[in-house]
Amino acid sequence: MKNLIKKAVQNHNLNREELIALLEDDNCAPALLAAADEVRKQYVGDEIHLRGLIEFSNFCKNNCCYCGLRRDNHRLERYRIDTPTILKLAEHAAAMGLKTVVLQSGEDPWFTTGRMTEIIRGIKKLGVALTLSTGEKSLQDYQAYREAGADRFLLRIETTDRDLYLRHDPGMSWDSRRQCLADLRTAGLEVGSGCLVGLPGQTTASLADDILFFKQIDADMIGIGPFIPHPDTPLRNAEGGKLDLALKVMALTRLLLPDINIPATTAMETLAPDGQIRALQGGANVIMPNVTLTAYRKHYELYPGKSATGYTPDESLQKVIEKINGIGRTVCKTQGFHIRNSKQQ
Ligand code: SAM
Ligand code: SF4
Repeated sequence: MKNLIKKAVQNHNLNREELIALLEDDNCAPALLAAADEVRKQYVGDEIHLRGLIEFSNFCKNNCCYCGLRRDNHRLERYRIDTPTILKLAEHAAAMGLKTVVLQSGEDPWFTTGRMTEIIRGIKKLGVALTLSTGEKSLQDYQAYREAGADRFLLRIETTDRDLYLRHDPGMSWDSRRQCLADLRTAGLEVGSGCLVGLPGQTTASLADDILFFKQIDADMIGIGPFIPHPDTPLRNAEGGKLDLALKVMALTRLLLPDINIPATTAMETLAPDGQIRALQGGANVIMPNVTLTAYRKHYELYPGKSATGYTPDESLQKVIEKINGIGRTVCKTQGFHIRNSKQQ
């Protein structure tokens, strides 16, 4: 395993069998995370990018079996934040010094292209970079977002295993999701994707394929999250993903895509109080502090125990900065594009 890790550090390449071997070996995790940390330092440095996350609607027309926002979860109280309030939250994020705002929601058709572009234009006046994560749209929509000023888009493939995807995302199409990722690139947005780790029926081979897929699409950002079962979904009794495996998938992603942006995800922090720290010391270089008003945050429940739900935006940010300084890292002062696009800043 040592030789495989060494090879990945030098060449940023591993084949499917090599990835499977590393994913299945329980003893290699410390060396793997240390190697990813070294590659992270070499390619993207010690600075951490903070992205202020606004969860602006929990309405969703889709029915993903793992997600608390799924259409058939009638126990969830639904909300939409209106445009002036979204702009106020973004303004507050910018005033707190955050250089990127991320707008995330369920797939909510109420936010038409016209409404979204109005919000995008308003936020771009604040001088911040803007990331969207609002699900599958047409190429024309993505182009309209880009023209209005959006910079990046996050759309996880969730899993590259078609059968598994169809089982857990009823009514959706893996090929359409794949096409959306291509369309985002065509529209000129930075492309973020990622996967869930620990979906029922998922194999280490399919996780290896996920990592190879990230390289194939030449992603700018990759978010890896352990799947956490939600009691009001069909997967309520599933075992759920393991933090250690999610960290290994993340570390391997850093080894193969050395200069991209990789968040220490909230789901990692939800599974363990030191989940994000371990991620930051195993290849991650991004954190997304939540800047949504506390009153809404409890309803954006993708999974139970979503970390820090009771904190105000200022408290969330303060906690994150303490964490970063506590491990000798610093907050980046630029907008934090993928290094190959960094002249945009
Ligand atoms: N609706 C958009 C979409 O699906 O792309 C964006 C919002 S969606 C809530 C963001 C991400 O949450 C999904 O890509 C999925 O990976 C993650 N997610 C949903 N349910 C989860 C769960 N139970 N555990 C961990 N992550 C989950
Ligand atoms: Fe909707 Fe996204 Fe949740 Fe799927 S993962 S139900 S698309 S919010």
